[in-house]
Amino acid sequence: MPAPAAEALPWEEQRRLDDDAYRSQLVYLFERSPFYRDKLPAAGVGSAAEAGGLDRLAELPLTDKQELRASVTDAQPIGSHLCAEPSEIVRIYSTSGTTGTPSYIPLTASDLDNWITGSARSYGASGVTAGQRIVSTYNAGPFVAGAALASFDRIGLCHIPVGTGNSERLVNAIQLLRPQAAVLTPSYAAYLVEWAAERGVDLAESSVERVLVAGEPGGGEPAFRAAVERGWGARVTEAMGIGDIGVSLWGECEHQDGMHLGARGFVHAELIDPGGGTPLPIEHGGSGELVLTHLRQRAAPLLRFRTRDHVEVRTAPCPCGRTGPRIRCIGRTDDMLIVRGVNLFPSAVREVVNGFAPRVSGHIQVRPQMPGVKQDPPLPVAVELARDGGPDAELAAEIAGRLRETLVVQTAVELVPFGTLQRSEYKSKLVEPIAR
Ligand SMILES: [Zn+2]
Repeated sequence: MPAPAAEALPWEEQRRLDDDAYRSQLVYLFERSPFYRDKLPAAGVGSAAEAGGLDRLAELPLTDKQELRASVTDAQPIGSHLCAEPSEIVRIYSTSGTTGTPSYIPLTASDLDNWITGSARSYGASGVTAGQRIVSTYNAGPFVAGAALASFDRIGLCHIPVGTGNSERLVNAIQLLRPQAAVLTPSYAAYLVEWAAERGVDLAESSVERVLVAGEPGGGEPAFRAAVERGWGARVTEAMGIGDIGVSLWGECEHQDGMHLGARGFVHAELIDPGGGTPLPIEHGGSGELVLTHLRQRAAPLLRFRTRDHVEVRTAPCPCGRTGPRIRCIGRTDDMLIVRGVNLFPSAVREVVNGFAPRVSGHIQVRPQMPGVKQDPPLPVAVELARDGGPDAELAAEIAGRLRETLVVQTAVELVPFGTLQRSEYKSKLVEPIAR
């Protein structure tokens, strides 16, 4: 499916437009944002003019989620980065609060419209088209995912919401209403394949041609993706957003080589070294923590916001014609472990283990032995056997060997029976929380 004109604009031209938008955003922040009116001068930047354009963005300080939280008071429950008058705000989402109390994300009418535009591009890249049916499984409720659901209307899809936690209702809807697409977390997409097989339902025979996954990393891991594609008989593409910045900012096209920036023109992306915060170039093959800056946000705009998502970048031209840079999320920097100096993402372990399908089920759990990021080898990893698999010392050794070769990390692989590790209708926990 060819890219619409706005997404095929040469990137240099986009960059020029973004530079103008960024300069206006800075003027707005100096006028309206108590948070940045403190933060920027404290970093030696006294005005928008002094800050310059996008080419000097990396000189500005990064913004951390903790700083925003610290600015919350009873009188200002949103935080001091709120710029808009109450009368301008049309929606207030909350984050799911995985790290504590929820934080509030306000939007003006134009913010909401921009979010939906970006999200519609990201999901539209998957190839779904007006007139098709899509079944969704998100209990979006207070969460920003609600804006993603609105993007289905924008694309012109017939949206069939069935919510989370009722696989029977979902499979019935698929069988009776025959949607061409389904949107769900990658964990749930994988779980449903098993769930359906246990009940004699072959999802691969269903009407679903496209499975759109979002909400956690995984949809882009080749072996995991291949397993889900086999189970559903459908093409799997992924999308990704970040609550404080925007919903489904990124979306993969049919070429499945990373997610394009659907929110181009609304958001500017940078890469940093998660350790020291040093800027890294956005270039083909680069990787690091994703940092995002709003370009046209009104209610609570953020500058150089640390997403904690560790991504790989691709900038080689994509056959779809979309010129936006592409990323693949490897994992949250918070999930990263360091084993004898080697950075390890649990999703990378799953990807290697999935190479042993059909002897393994695809479910894994990394079981750190010490609190904190640094772990001594061997790192225990539970690997679930396939449905009919039994004890197999050779397989365990083979998996540990491949993990060592591929990820340069020494593990102690324990094979566990099928069904032992927790399935999720939402998001998987690939790391066992350590008992304290
Ligand atoms: Zn593409």
